[in-house]
Amino acid sequence: MTTNLLTAYRKKRDFGTTPEPEGKPRRAGRRHVFVVQKHRASHLHYDFRLEIDGVLKSWAVPKGPSLDPTVRRLAVRVEDHPYAYRNFEGEIPAGQYGAGEVIIWDRGTYRTPDGGDNATLRSELRKGTLHLVLRGKKLRGGFSLVRLKRPRQWLLIKKCDAFATERDVTRNDRSVKSGRRISDRRPTRGKSRVRFTRRSRGR
Ligand code: MN
Repeated sequence: MTTNLLTAYRKKRDFGTTPEPEGKPRRAGRRHVFVVQKHRASHLHYDFRLEIDGVLKSWAVPKGPSLDPTVRRLAVRVEDHPYAYRNFEGEIPAGQYGAGEVIIWDRGTYRTPDGGDNATLRSELRKGTLHLVLRGKKLRGGFSLVRLKRPRQWLLIKKCDAFATERDVTRNDRSVKSGRRISDRRPTRGKSRVRFTRRSRGR
């Protein structure tokens, strides 16, 4: 695969300023990785990323993944990210695209239920129905990503299996890399702003 998969990603960023990786596609291997980054940009969301074709195919999931098979989570396809992005955790500076804090909420490897290779994944992605078996710390078992008729909109759905539960997995809110939580503050835009809302503390 060529580097032009990352053109959209690179256009949006100034790599002299942001600590995010510029990255390159990697040669497709046997083990495919996934990562879910929790990102407090202007809106809090979770970035669900799957290694396909040596880059991270990416979806922004506003409410985050669910382990409840009756719940369908909207997942908006965004630009491919470099493979190196799987390790990114930190603060995207104010004024940069996606400014705000990022933690690695979950990561691991995944496969297709029937042992398909990269070509299978590429084909499923194009057709708009991906079947995945995730092996992360928080997300495990079968999931589907299904494209809707509207452009870029998909649904992320847990399959019924031994890992399905009604328990809200997003309550487990620490980074699997550092143990850190996304701090409660808003992204910095110059001076810190006075806040008019009070939140309960001490929990
Ligand atoms: Mn994001």
